[in-house]
Amino acid sequence: MDVIEKTIRDVAMKQPVNLQSKTHHTALDGLFRYADFLNFGQVHIKFDHATGLKAIVAVHNLKRGPAIGGCRLVQYPTTDAGFEDAIRLGYMMSVKAAISNLNHGGGKAVILKPKVIKDRKAFFETFGDFVNELGGRYITAVDSGTSSEDMDIIQTRTPFVTCTTASGVGGDPSPQTAFGVRRGIEASVKFKLGRDNLDGVHVAIQGAGHVGYYLAKELHARGARLTMCDINQNVLQRCVDEFGANTCLPDAIYDVEAEVFAPCALGSILNLNTIKRLRVPIVAGSANNQLAHQHHGVLLHERGILYAPDFLINAGGLIYVAAAYDHANIQKAKEHVGDIYYTVTDVFEQAQKENRATNEVAEKMALERLR
Ligand code: NAD
Repeated sequence: MDVIEKTIRDVAMKQPVNLQSKTHHTALDGLFRYADFLNFGQVHIKFDHATGLKAIVAVHNLKRGPAIGGCRLVQYPTTDAGFEDAIRLGYMMSVKAAISNLNHGGGKAVILKPKVIKDRKAFFETFGDFVNELGGRYITAVDSGTSSEDMDIIQTRTPFVTCTTASGVGGDPSPQTAFGVRRGIEASVKFKLGRDNLDGVHVAIQGAGHVGYYLAKELHARGARLTMCDINQNVLQRCVDEFGANTCLPDAIYDVEAEVFAPCALGSILNLNTIKRLRVPIVAGSANNQLAHQHHGVLLHERGILYAPDFLINAGGLIYVAAAYDHANIQKAKEHVGDIYYTVTDVFEQAQKENRATNEVAEKMALERLR
């Protein structure tokens, strides 16, 4: 049975009245509208009684090549929330791959994490079968909640997987992501401040986790001054010890007077409340979905704050992972990540010419490549 058909049947069994009603909309109606709005694509689901696997694979666009994107294993409050996340993230991966000139479309897998996974091996074998059934349309990789060891299990069932322990990229693409973000910061500092290097440039980093740590390392090595925050004192202290970073309370990061604010923790942190507090000319960091809403990019533009679009400057990990899957030259992949500098500059120049927000210009560029 076609997977969408199966979803419709599942929902119909739960909400038969709503589905047949002309006046009421079901959650699935809303999800289809959302998928339609984002110009999807395909959404596939798999349910396996024996292992308890409930997985969704959202394949946004295949025009540039097979879709690639991580596999999340996360507990969601509802199935709809997991479905919506897969659609949202699949779209974002398409835009990210296109702006990065990869020969891949965007996709994402969401596994609804059960309370207990009785047999992790069987669980991921079944997921591997699912990926294989998609015939190469979707290539899976590590994401929140999954590891290289999980990818190894998946590989016993399908070749459409990367980030295995033997792949050369392992389970942590953060160093490559941080490298790309550093290149994005360099391009921003050149464009906005006319400075050729980061020596003495003050960067406020929100989050000292995987990317935050490696970004701090990259910036420190180039003479930047750092102010950092994190809700986890241990990871923060490591950056104090190794890079001499100053620290502040998590909420105070928005008030730090610096040249660059680098969000590397959470999404939606650029909103009406925070944007008016910012005392920086540049925002450039790794966090996904930094803008609470697209129009907050316009607000930053109106305030004269240069925003380096997140999906563009945080693509280093994806570029690297895709290169490993395609057996491309890894040195070339590193150069490709370094070229984020030039793509960011192109976006800034175009945005200046059109007097538009940078996020709108970058998204338009990406979508044109998907047509
Ligand atoms: P991570 O979980 O390792 O690090 C996030 C850090 O943020 C943690 O140390 C956490 O304690 C901290 N944090 C949480 N809430 C906070 C708050 N309110 N204030 C300050 N710090 C807070 O995640 P990561 O892999 O470093 O990724 C960081 C961001 O970059 C995420 O948004 C992620 O989606 C995005 N991203 C990561 C990669 C990658 O390669 N890891 C690639 C692209 C995008």
